Amino acid sequence: MHPSILSILIIITTALSITSAAYKPAAPEIKTDPASLSKGSTDYGNIVHEIPAGVAYPSSEKDVVELIRASHASAEGPFAVAARGRGHSVRGQAMAGGGVVVDMTALGREKKRIRIDLEGMYADVGGEQLWIDVLRETVAEGVAPVSWTDYVYLSVGGTLSNAGISGQAFMHGPQISNVVELDVVTGKGEFMTCSRTRNPELFFGVLGGLGQFGIITRARIILDKAPIRVKWAKLLYSDFTAFTRDQEHLISNNASNYVEGFIVTNENAASDWTSSSPSRKSDVAALIKKQGVLYSIELVKYYDNYTAATIDQEFETLLKELKYMSGYNVTTDASFVEFISRVGDLDNGTPPLPSHPWLNLFIPKSSIVEFNAGVLAGMLPKLNDPKLNETFGIFIFYPFNRNKWDDRMTAVVPDEEVFYTLAALHTTPQDGYKSIDEFNNDILEFCKSRGLNVKQYLPNIKSKKEWIDHFGSKWETVEKRKAMFDPENILSPGQRIFN
Ligand SMILES: Cc1cc2nc3c(=O)[nH]c(=O)nc-3n(C[C@H](O)[C@H](O)[C@H](O)COP(=O)(O)OP(=O)(O)OC[C@H]3O[C@@H](n4cnc5c(N)ncnc54)[C@H](O)[C@@H]3O)c2cc1C
Repeated sequence: MHPSILSILIIITTALSITSAAYKPAAPEIKTDPASLSKGSTDYGNIVHEIPAGVAYPSSEKDVVELIRASHASAEGPFAVAARGRGHSVRGQAMAGGGVVVDMTALGREKKRIRIDLEGMYADVGGEQLWIDVLRETVAEGVAPVSWTDYVYLSVGGTLSNAGISGQAFMHGPQISNVVELDVVTGKGEFMTCSRTRNPELFFGVLGGLGQFGIITRARIILDKAPIRVKWAKLLYSDFTAFTRDQEHLISNNASNYVEGFIVTNENAASDWTSSSPSRKSDVAALIKKQGVLYSIELVKYYDNYTAATIDQEFETLLKELKYMSGYNVTTDASFVEFISRVGDLDNGTPPLPSHPWLNLFIPKSSIVEFNAGVLAGMLPKLNDPKLNETFGIFIFYPFNRNKWDDRMTAVVPDEEVFYTLAALHTTPQDGYKSIDEFNNDILEFCKSRGLNVKQYLPNIKSKKEWIDHFGSKWETVEKRKAMFDPENILSPGQRIFN
């Protein structure tokens, strides 16, 4: 056994003997076998690999408390502790080199921790639960959360530590805006329940808090009546102004339930509209050649048995208001569950695994014309060059209403009423990500040189100064909350904010 893990285990045992009577003796199982260490040092990005001393498999919240208390009791000084939800970070954010990674899934090993309250219209959900399970369990009761991520094989604690965004956020806000209560084990080893009125510093700190203040063990998520089916359209645009004008129109009138957008950089990405027609294919190819990119809006309207008779008419009226390329419109009908889980489960597959050097940004509305010229149309087409090593790329671009975000939370967004996200979701061969890292840096440099005031989402930031810039006026609050809830800086060191 690794000597430091042996000492952790001894510390845990000692800590248990001096623990207050409120906690029954419990200690998380800590493993140091190669499979555990490999899991603890791997994420979806496949770029950073920090090897922990051990991986903890807690069977209860008490185990998480004891682990953190053991860290503080360590004679060699506290060791780092990082919650790992699904490990779908892309830059080692859920790792703890030399410390202990907490495999959160262990908390739900015995039974799914999802309890639905139909009277209160909320679900109490374990922080380790995957959104796909929340979807299945709630829909079975005729209810569902209102705000999602595009991909639902992510843990509740993991997305709430960032924001949790998708095409519903314009109407309901991100997932962090749709949580009313949390149970959290702080970096001091205290188990606390918090909400907007009870321990609010912890509540607002943890939401979008990048794992810095505590480990979320339960979230109370707002529910609404579940839709049954969806009308789902994909529209193609050649003109950026028409594209963003329509997106902003859609997020202002609540006539649809989901609005996203994509940047189409090659003919493959346009196949939805061209596969059935050779002439369309050549028209689209000519347009992409001429202007580098096309744009698409993806839009959805929910319906149920009561609105089934009128949905086609309503959807047609909605589409008529939009200025997409005439005839370039694909509409489908799907169940609500099919739509929400449309991406499927992207597990890591078999080695060699690809790398995912993603860049996610929030861009203020006032900057998008310049951002389009410099980045969307100016740079993204360059990724078609095989020298850049991009084997596959998806570029998502859509707007939010800032009034649906709560500024007291740690999540950082631009200071304008409407802002957009760009998700540049790159895939490269294993370890072939450096050229894309340079490409991403060029995007950030462009934004900086033009003073575009973009903010990173799922931030990949390395220096303290850049973190201070990132948080801006929130930095003081972040520092204050860190001192309150994790003064020894043990939590989620993979974010590289305080370590
Ligand atoms: C294929 C894919 C699609 C995605 N799509 C979207 C999307 O549409 N919208 C969106 O918003 N995001 C999206 N993401 C990003 C995703 O939300 C974040 O990477 C999120 O952190 C992943 O959740 P996870 O459970 O894998 O977290 P992990 O990677 O395990 O952890 C992320 C961070 O949160 C901390 N953490 C984990 N669990 C807890 C907890 N219970 N309490 C406190 N801290 C915790 C970790 O220590 C780490 O710092 C996507 C990611 C992937 C790989």
